[in-house]
Amino acid sequence: MGNLDNSDGDSIGDELDILHVDMDAFFAAVEVLDDQSLKGRPVIVGGSGSRGVVAACTYEARAFGVRSGMPMFRARKVCPQGVFLPGRFKRYVELSRELHVVFETFSPFVEPISLDEAFLDVSGAHLLFGSSLEIAKSLRKEIYGKLSLNCSVGIGRTRLVAKLASKKAKPNAKRVPGIGYFEDGIYRVGSDDEKKFLFSLNVGEVWGIGPVTTSSLEKMGVHTVEELSKVEYQVLVSKFGIAKAAWLKSITSGSTQEQLVSKTESKSVSHEETFNTDLDSHSTLDIHLVRLCDAVTRRLRAGKLKASTVVLVLKYSDFTRITRQIKLASPSNDPRTFLKEARSILSQIDVSSGIRLIGVSASGLLEAGGIEDQLSFEEINLEYESQDNLIEAIDEIRAKYGLNSLGPASINGSNTLKAKEHGDNQWG
Ligand SMILES: [Mg+2]
Repeated sequence: MGNLDNSDGDSIGDELDILHVDMDAFFAAVEVLDDQSLKGRPVIVGGSGSRGVVAACTYEARAFGVRSGMPMFRARKVCPQGVFLPGRFKRYVELSRELHVVFETFSPFVEPISLDEAFLDVSGAHLLFGSSLEIAKSLRKEIYGKLSLNCSVGIGRTRLVAKLASKKAKPNAKRVPGIGYFEDGIYRVGSDDEKKFLFSLNVGEVWGIGPVTTSSLEKMGVHTVEELSKVEYQVLVSKFGIAKAAWLKSITSGSTQEQLVSKTESKSVSHEETFNTDLDSHSTLDIHLVRLCDAVTRRLRAGKLKASTVVLVLKYSDFTRITRQIKLASPSNDPRTFLKEARSILSQIDVSSGIRLIGVSASGLLEAGGIEDQLSFEEINLEYESQDNLIEAIDEIRAKYGLNSLGPASINGSNTLKAKEHGDNQWG
């Protein structure tokens, strides 16, 4: 084990056990890796259609003002000399797998949040690999050795802090002197620095505060997390509702309420239903399918997640259990997409011998609005997309007036069926 430098407070057992690892300009870096003639040039990967957005760009492109999420036509305007590429998703997935193999050599507790980003809980890894800072160093070295790609690592007590810290570890990040500890692609925020660190951020930099909330806050004169901390809770409630106000307040409390990566945290969202009497027709099962798809996608939307795979689970009268899954054309949290796929799976299954349990689960989760999500942006079914606002409105009405105020027609058309909530009827 190396010599520990305690000047930055780094030591074993300091409870800063969450690492957030994020590849630098991942898609663009992969393009440069595979074509060295692109080295040093402003490379921009993203959708080429009229609605395309930038999925990733090199630091050379950033110098021109190009940013991920920016509409492609604007990127072309600010950086006409850029190398514009459509992206090779398969290749990114391939390298992402290699990346995750490296993660798992350091900790069994890895929570991927997109192709090139993951949280690692290293609480059990110190004896083998040293302090969190040493683990971060080894991890960067190992990743570079295996993939020839750079990454940034944030170290913190909670996922939120680690995630925000990795941003400050980026090559071009603005760092406030005296807050946190920086070296070569690693930024570590100790417990004592947590509050100072969070307060120094603009509200728009905080993971989970999107552009809409940011502009609402800015209209209230709130630009930084410190300013947010001075806003009365009741003011936030009247502006954003109780749930969001509480969450905004938890960020500013300095000790974020975010939980550590749960070691049993599932990488899927699922609901299932056990029946009192076995069901043996597709039409009766379909009613439950509607509820389950509604419930699963509602939880995805609440967690700002999308799923790339829909899984249908069935248990027969004799307790035989089968699962069938289908990969979606693009990640989704739309109940109609889920229902369509779940129905197509169910229609191919013989249920005449009786079904005692049906479940729907969503796996392959990724952050809604994240980079992979944006890359698949152009493939989203337009028919559904025009109704995105409708689903948002339904979620809002339910938040205000209760779960059963609104929902799919086949839920509300029946007196006996209520919208499914997490945990209800879990055991039949
Ligand atoms: Mg990245």
